[in-house]
Amino acid sequence: MLVDLKDGYCRTCGGQLEITGANDATLDVECTECGDGYAVETDAFNDGGVTYWPQAMVEFGEEC
Ligand SMILES: [Zn+2]
Repeated sequence: MLVDLKDGYCRTCGGQLEITGANDATLDVECTECGDGYAVETDAFNDGGVTYWPQAMVEFGEEC
């Protein structure tokens, strides 16, 4: 799942992020430009945690 650049971007290079995982507390993101990966808060993307995180939980939540 790609993160819209208006909502968030790579803290290293400013590139587009892809969400690669999710759990109750964090989202795992990976940069599509530089490959940097890290975890962010579930509400890190300007959406109050109601857009990306629920979608990510549907996609990734039950697996670990
Ligand atoms: Zn980057």
